[in-house]
Amino acid sequence: MFDKVLIANRGEIALRVLRACRELGIKTVAAHSSADAGLKHVLLADETVCIGPAPSANSYLNMPAIIAAAEITDAVAIHPGYGFLSENADFAERVQESGFIFIGPDPQTIRLMGDKVSAIKSMKAAGVPCVPGSDGILSDDNNKNADIAHEIGYPVIIKAVGGGGGRGMRVVHSEAYLFNAISITKSEALAAFGNGDVYMEKFLENPRHIEFQILADTHGNAIHLGERDCSMQRRHQKIVEEAPAPGISPEIRMKMGTRCAKACLDIGYKGAGTFEFLYQDKNFYFIEMNTRVQVEHPITELITGIDIVKEQLLIANGEPMTHRQDDIQWSGHAIECRINAEDPKTFMPSPGKINLWHPPGGPGIRVDSHLYVGYKVPPYYDSLIAKIISYAEDRPSAIARMDTALSELVIEGIKTNSPLHQEICQHSAFKRGGTDINYLEKRLGIK
Ligand code: ADP
Repeated sequence: MFDKVLIANRGEIALRVLRACRELGIKTVAAHSSADAGLKHVLLADETVCIGPAPSANSYLNMPAIIAAAEITDAVAIHPGYGFLSENADFAERVQESGFIFIGPDPQTIRLMGDKVSAIKSMKAAGVPCVPGSDGILSDDNNKNADIAHEIGYPVIIKAVGGGGGRGMRVVHSEAYLFNAISITKSEALAAFGNGDVYMEKFLENPRHIEFQILADTHGNAIHLGERDCSMQRRHQKIVEEAPAPGISPEIRMKMGTRCAKACLDIGYKGAGTFEFLYQDKNFYFIEMNTRVQVEHPITELITGIDIVKEQLLIANGEPMTHRQDDIQWSGHAIECRINAEDPKTFMPSPGKINLWHPPGGPGIRVDSHLYVGYKVPPYYDSLIAKIISYAEDRPSAIARMDTALSELVIEGIKTNSPLHQEICQHSAFKRGGTDINYLEKRLGIK
């Protein structure tokens, strides 16, 4: 096993990676910004290196600084976490060229799946169902684009090829707005992602977001760990996730999961990854693949008993997976609530010092968080401060357990969205299950 891993991330995921490394006897290096010297994983790591000032462009996105940190500490491998450089093919390439192991798929696979048009093409070729769409990037030919939209049928959605984080998308309901929408999305995409290419898809009006977790090693083994339902979203950002997805039968799980695992073999995938689908009228439509560990990975860990981050480390070390598809058993139900440092009504970020922190506990409750009393949530980064995860034998019990956990949670000094989570847990439609991606914004009247 490698001797030392550099963690090129922050917050709860950096702590999660550190814990997995420790269990495997791997030493850790925390590469952090100057604003993050007090982060929990930085305090726990074997070594720490400050890689730059607070703004992420100068620290967590600073490739030479991260690679130099690995060099001076003699780290063998780099774990990118999620966000930041985790899906940056150029970074993965530079890590490899500098003689380190990138804990994730190869750069060419990241590149293939990071370009949404090439991702959709390769998924189609692998027999994975996709959203009806333009089959490539849109040209500047208005007539041609109008024909494509007409053929797909309105409403359509214009999406940036290099988009991410729910940005770079625009819904179009009629031809009158089409050309305008294409040119606005193009210029926004160029400014935000450095790539102005866009494509067109059928806009699904009331889908659910269902995704499949996969693991693939370098010895030709690929398995799936079933699905998660991440339909509870605000502005295309997930807020609550659960596994398994309500209403998905074991047969459908196996059929879709097997297709995803096979697609991994087709594209030479390595490591942990997620195939994201929209699900409407009992049909799955592939939208994108995430070539990294996801925020919501713990719910899959709880219902399968597999430690996804440890698997990432073992696979990156070149070990064959010990789990076979037939060994994977799904039992019980798990729910994750993302606790953000933000106002529960206005969603304005709420950074500041934690004066009191009482995480919930008891049977079936897992808390992934880097908080401690006295810690200062900085204003510079993502507002995720804790993930409360409940596990129970069935869905109603998992919801009841989550509701109880949220009622115990005490965070003082900053505002959090915990009240919103309690409202969701107590809402009859959530209790019934299977709500679509528009539910949170529409039914709860939030934007
Ligand atoms: P990103 O990479 O920005 O996360 P995705 O392609 O995964 O972009 O889409 C994010 C979210 O946008 C989806 O979860 C869904 O809510 C919405 N979305 C994307 N494509 C469509 C579509 N064709 N129809 C309806 N909603 C869509």
